[in-house]
Amino acid sequence: MHRKLMLGAALASVLAAAPKIAKQPFGSQVFLYTMTNASGMEVKITNYGGTIVSIKVPDRNKKLDDVVLGFDSLAGYTAKTNTSYFGALIGRYGNRIANGKFTLNGHAYQAPVNDGPNSLHGGLQGFDKRIWRAKETDDGLELNYVSQDGEEGYPGKLNVTVRYTLDDKNGLQIDYRATTNKDTVLNLTNHSYFNLSGNGKGTVLHQKLTLSADRYTPVDSTLIPTGKIVDVAGTPFDFRKATEIGSRIDQDNEQLKFGKGYDHNFVLRKKAGEFSLAASVVEPESGRTMEVWTTEPGLQFYSGNFLNGKDVGKGAKAYPFRSAFCLETQHFPDSPNHSNFPSTVLKPGDTYKQKTVYKLGVQKK
Ligand code: BGC
Repeated sequence: MHRKLMLGAALASVLAAAPKIAKQPFGSQVFLYTMTNASGMEVKITNYGGTIVSIKVPDRNKKLDDVVLGFDSLAGYTAKTNTSYFGALIGRYGNRIANGKFTLNGHAYQAPVNDGPNSLHGGLQGFDKRIWRAKETDDGLELNYVSQDGEEGYPGKLNVTVRYTLDDKNGLQIDYRATTNKDTVLNLTNHSYFNLSGNGKGTVLHQKLTLSADRYTPVDSTLIPTGKIVDVAGTPFDFRKATEIGSRIDQDNEQLKFGKGYDHNFVLRKKAGEFSLAASVVEPESGRTMEVWTTEPGLQFYSGNFLNGKDVGKGAKAYPFRSAFCLETQHFPDSPNHSNFPSTVLKPGDTYKQKTVYKLGVQKK
């Protein structure tokens, strides 16, 4: 009896800690899942592209705002004009592969070219444009997608599972798992655009960023890494101390010119595979903060340089130049063509694993 009561109490505390999840239609075969936690944070995710549609969090006065960009309806995401990957899961290969070409075990492969001469974010129909099988779990949402052998030019049938969970301390955790039946390459990430002031509330240039990176990978004019790994010291890429995103963004610097601002992979300071703090951001007015933790070796910091005001997003807000930043946890761009970068090869029998947490908060006064 006593034992039963104890078990009951343990179960009750697990249930109390679990976020609530609600499901509503968002289109044909497509749903919108809303997770809420005990601290008032609310996250909406759709199984179209595994996309994070909104993240509502309080500011220092407990006022809720949505801190990611996106659209109110599925039509916004599926529109041909949407080329920004707002909130989506990216695969098979996050960021660029030079000319879409790579060689594995002596075979040459060609991924679709969709960004100048290169292949970006998985090609013409990447994971962001797929409908994922969704399952609500005790602590969040589990998404699954099986990518067929040869899809978008990539070898191997790939089985990918992504779990989104929300804790009561405003941490949104993303766990990725993938297996393959043939040697392949992959680089998964989430492409959320954050603005800690709130969706549609100006630019992110005054937001202060810290990166746990002493080095970054410079690019050529088509944003493909040159293969060099360069110290950030003495360059506008030094974010080792909290620095406003906009303070050096328009400096006369070739790398910033190539990216129209920041659009670069930072080499995270860590032991291989370690789960560690990659970045933190502070928005001084609202007091909102965000930390990014990951097991990945790299972080693509993109300062929204291709936003141009043409996308009209949630609440009829336009998204102008640099009105959001992305902090994409991943392996380095174009790794299949750079033997000095950490390998992105996955073999049958092995499991690709990634854990990333976006932890929202407010600044202590
Ligand atoms: C890339 C940018 C690109 C953006 C949207 C980022 O990951 O680095 O160059 O414009 O995604 O596609």
